[in-house]
Amino acid sequence: MQQVYDMVIIGGGPGGIGAAVESKVMGLDKILMIEKGDNHSQTIRKFYKDNKRVDKDYKGQVIELSGNVDFTDGTKESTLNYFDELLDTGKIDTAFNSEVEKIKKDGDIFQIITTTAGYASKNVIIAIGTMGKPNKPSYKIPPSIKDRVNFNLDKCSSGEKLLLVGGGNSAVEYAIELSKTNTVTLNYRRDKFTRLNEINEKMIYEYNGQEKLRLRMGVDVTSLENENGLVKVNFTDGYYTIYDRVIYAIGGTTPVDFLRNCGVTFDENNKPEFDENFETKTKGLYLAGDIAVQSGGSIAIALNHAHDIVTHILKTKNK
Ligand SMILES: Cc1cc2nc3c(=O)[nH]c(=O)nc-3n(C[C@H](O)[C@H](O)[C@H](O)COP(=O)(O)OP(=O)(O)OC[C@H]3O[C@@H](n4cnc5c(N)ncnc54)[C@H](O)[C@@H]3O)c2cc1C
Repeated sequence: MQQVYDMVIIGGGPGGIGAAVESKVMGLDKILMIEKGDNHSQTIRKFYKDNKRVDKDYKGQVIELSGNVDFTDGTKESTLNYFDELLDTGKIDTAFNSEVEKIKKDGDIFQIITTTAGYASKNVIIAIGTMGKPNKPSYKIPPSIKDRVNFNLDKCSSGEKLLLVGGGNSAVEYAIELSKTNTVTLNYRRDKFTRLNEINEKMIYEYNGQEKLRLRMGVDVTSLENENGLVKVNFTDGYYTIYDRVIYAIGGTTPVDFLRNCGVTFDENNKPEFDENFETKTKGLYLAGDIAVQSGGSIAIALNHAHDIVTHILKTKNK
């Protein structure tokens, strides 16, 4: 007989970990968290710079935590350690290196199909974030310089001349951190930043004023070319500059096809449909974290989603 879980969570980021902990603490019995990476929190591991400051009230959004996870300000490393501890203490069953491909509901039970196995569950929370599919520019990236054009910091080393593209907190935090070991230009197509938290806004202008990095505002990139193996970047003002590396930090997108494969419906604006309890049109199937916000998700928001969902499941006795 196949084991039927009370709760299967897809995605081992803050939303997924929060859901696992809340399920455990609030009394669900059989819980499994499935993660496609070789460890939890792939967005934090891949997109946060080492020693990055992690703000609880990210982008100035003050969030009161409603659940059982006591997340506070820290660094990339302290946050990952804290999540390790939560999973260990809660003795949460995990399936790493397992990418969920599809979910279907047979009667009251969900069948969850991964690249390596199949699982059955009464409830499913999808918390897969949006950074699996980072946004890309509309112009073509020449294949010969693909290794020098990145969407995270994996390939970045020190001593490089870098162009960071983007105007959000991620782009600014990357620029500030990288400028300690590299020559950095931050390019944002608008004349001024409008979405930064106070600390980042203050720091980026300070760094620019002290010439620790360079801001190139109000111009956009029009194309990239290969110049002797380096990246020639052409801008809308007619100038060009050669860089060792270009890094885009322009956000991510909702994985629409995947969600459709899981039975999630979309409204006329192509937004996933779910109610105030984060339950989709399929009873027992919930969305949490970055995929359940229009924009501006955060760790604390994802943790609160997790708590609200488990509270709702226990209230409706879908257990
Ligand atoms: C550079 C950067 C800096 C940030 N700084 C902060 C900050 O200081 N403070 C803050 O609160 N927030 C910050 N954020 C935002 C925060 O990281 C996100 O809001 C949060 O990670 C969202 O959590 P999540 O669980 O929804 O998704 P994610 O953290 O994206 O986790 C999703 C997980 O699901 C896995 N997954 C995806 N698809 C599948 C699949 N099909 N099957 C199985 N697993 C799958 C992924 O591998 C990943 O581990 C930052 C974001 C970025 C990019």
